[in-house]
Amino acid sequence: MELRYSPADIESKWQTYWAKHELYKAPEKTDAETKGKFYALSMFPYPSGDLHMGHVRNYTITDVVARVRRMQGYRVLHPMGWDAFGLPAENAAIQRGVPPAEWTLKNIEQMREQLKALGLSYDWNREVATCLPNYYRWTQWIFLQFFDAGLAYQKEAAVNWDPIDQTVLANEQVDSEGKSWRSGAKVERKLLRQWFFKITDYADRLLADLDQLSGWPERVKTMQANWIGKSTGAQVTFKAESGEDLLIYTTRPDTLWGATFMVLSPEHSLINSLTTPEQADAIKQYQDAAANLSTIDRTAEGREKTGVWTGSYAVNPVNDQKIPIWTADYVMMDYGTGAIMAVPAHDQRDFEFARKFDLPVEVVVQPEDESFNGKTMEQAYAHSGVMVNSGPLNGVIAGKGEGESVECAIAYLEKQSIGQGTTNYRLRDWLVSRQRYWGAPIPIVHCPSCGAVPVPDSDLPVELPTNAEFSGKSVASLAKFDDWVNVSCPNCQAEAKRETDTMDTFLDSSWYFLRYADANNQSEAFSKTKVDDWLPVDQYVGGIEHAILHLLYSRFFTKVLKDRGLLSFDEPFQRLLTQGMVQAITYKTAEGKSIAATNITDLDNPTDPETGDPLQVSFTKMSKSAFNGVPPAEVLAKYGADTARMFILFKAPPEKDLEWDDADVEGQYRFLNRVWRSVTEFSQMENAASFETIKGIEQTKLSKEDKVLRRATHTAIKEISEDIEGDYQFNTAISELMKLSNALNDTKDKATVAFAEGIYSLVLLIAPFAPHIADELWSQMAKGSVHQQAWPVVEADALVADEITLVIQIMGKTRGTLQVPAGADKAELENYARESEIAQKYLEGKEIKKVIVVPGKLVNFVAV
Ligand SMILES: [Zn+2]
Repeated sequence: MELRYSPADIESKWQTYWAKHELYKAPEKTDAETKGKFYALSMFPYPSGDLHMGHVRNYTITDVVARVRRMQGYRVLHPMGWDAFGLPAENAAIQRGVPPAEWTLKNIEQMREQLKALGLSYDWNREVATCLPNYYRWTQWIFLQFFDAGLAYQKEAAVNWDPIDQTVLANEQVDSEGKSWRSGAKVERKLLRQWFFKITDYADRLLADLDQLSGWPERVKTMQANWIGKSTGAQVTFKAESGEDLLIYTTRPDTLWGATFMVLSPEHSLINSLTTPEQADAIKQYQDAAANLSTIDRTAEGREKTGVWTGSYAVNPVNDQKIPIWTADYVMMDYGTGAIMAVPAHDQRDFEFARKFDLPVEVVVQPEDESFNGKTMEQAYAHSGVMVNSGPLNGVIAGKGEGESVECAIAYLEKQSIGQGTTNYRLRDWLVSRQRYWGAPIPIVHCPSCGAVPVPDSDLPVELPTNAEFSGKSVASLAKFDDWVNVSCPNCQAEAKRETDTMDTFLDSSWYFLRYADANNQSEAFSKTKVDDWLPVDQYVGGIEHAILHLLYSRFFTKVLKDRGLLSFDEPFQRLLTQGMVQAITYKTAEGKSIAATNITDLDNPTDPETGDPLQVSFTKMSKSAFNGVPPAEVLAKYGADTARMFILFKAPPEKDLEWDDADVEGQYRFLNRVWRSVTEFSQMENAASFETIKGIEQTKLSKEDKVLRRATHTAIKEISEDIEGDYQFNTAISELMKLSNALNDTKDKATVAFAEGIYSLVLLIAPFAPHIADELWSQMAKGSVHQQAWPVVEADALVADEITLVIQIMGKTRGTLQVPAGADKAELENYARESEIAQKYLEGKEIKKVIVVPGKLVNFVAV
């Protein structure tokens, strides 16, 4: 038989075998099962058409987890699908004149083949694509669940409006000069009615339940906690001289006595009534200018402060001082109340504003060792100290955002009935409507008399009109399809119009992990029994870029659906792993421009082909712009999927960044070749021990050499089993595989049952990592697929060492080793060493001054 390892021959063969025998089909629950279920999930991809190395890494990590759990006897669900709505498909449609559905489905075909070539153990029966009516029907149904619960509502919101294309643009489609990427028109800010999900109702639970997520990286939980941004403070009412109540929120009510002016957001509803006729023009101009700026521009740190006085005053309720009311764009309408008290002595932005417009600065917190003067201080003081100039609070200790002074101030405000303690969140309601074609239509009909009416469940899905036309300049919008838009009201049958907005694609991905549990259900989004059986996901794997939005929205959906009685768990993902990036070498000019390696003559001394200047070499994330991507297909064609998988798992622990290295890929290929040779030689031996035989090994009857080899085998089983638990140290697991392989190669007598056990174990242990070669080798020596065998179990007896290797040193220099009984004490070890040939040879004619014994390791003779 041919002894050569040829991945191209065996990989497609085994992929076909697995599919034919439905090896990875997720079994439904039975009474007989002992281990229970395991749900392994990778974040599903956007079907761009091309798989990149980042995907390969993500999916391989999850695949190893799934394969190990299967061999350990769990009932495993490991599905895959497509996050298939969204802008790139629409852009491709505009550029190429292909309908988004066609482009998307073609890409899915292509990527599915690429995934299959990697040998990933998916249950393809459960594949979902969010752009298909049989999926988005249920996304629409879930939208209506939110609507019914009062969690979906409409309100006016500012959007980017392209006046030429007459369309709304995403922030990413507005260039740095504020112009539309497509039409080049200056983008306007426009108020439009938009759909929102009331995620703020769940802010407290989304924050508190982070404590349940012990299997999540701390970093991700911190990012979510910061995004939710809970703060405690007070709401205080200031009275304008003209009589209006101006409500403010502050986390530092203790500094109220230092408020020397107020600032309202330019969008604040009271601005116009507060503005005096003399100031009206200036205010109007300022509002118009602010309307054209993004939140990021307005709130950027260190930006030159701008603002206009309204002409009127308010009264500070704690000290009755008259303070001017200004408007400035650094105050946002959607944080707090859209109005702030400005305390320039203790807030840097207020300080900058006060200095620019020559407003008073009043110090109310003094540090112990310094004394500030509001007229001369050079920046705001935001640290602890003692309250001064603060009436009843004078002398109280003040800390930043917390401490005694805040509590004292809240108590005082509540007693005087001028304010109250309150909790505030940074989290805003989620804007879910998009004015685009390629998304799930929002299933609402607008009726002149009934208002927003949900489309009845029996009429779902509301399908996208398919006769859309895409061209270079025009964007398809659902509003253009008259036949589709004009319907009768489901309530009163009067003439009505469909909602023409589609849903944010983040809605599609906020529940896909539930659909996998019951992917082919035609009458429900999912059955409660099935989601309660499979969920929560036991191991979720994906990129850190989803730390906030996707993971927060999915948690929100789960809580809402639980409150609707549709499922029984609070959190969707028990454990989360955020895999590191795949990086490769980039060559950059001093200006930061990347140069492709193919354009560089000498890679050892890389220089700019145009200027001859030396280039900087570093590792950065693989990307088109850095010219450093390695197409997975190339690696697969050259080495096969098993080598690609082994390299990716071996090169770095899963959560760390990985540096691509061709030599290390080659190294893994050579390792698989060694495994191939050892196992093939074994299986071709006459009388090779069968898999059944090795189950009855009696430790006491083994020879010394057999015991040593057996210890190597069971050490590998023990170490690898530990590495694939907990933090998934796949890299060290592969090192252990190499050690076992070496031990087997070094064994002289290969006709023993201990050797056979080593060989079978090696193939079983390598199976989750390199599934094709493992199955091919298994088929040469045993029945069935290796992936349906039980994970090997460590035998404690086999791990006990009868002997240890003792190192003999003379004057600290190693001169040789000696096999000695494992149980020997210090004195016995010294005796063995003294009597050894090594010692006798090197100590001849010398006087031993001192003997150092390290039990279990070495004996060192100090002799002259
Ligand atoms: Zn109606």
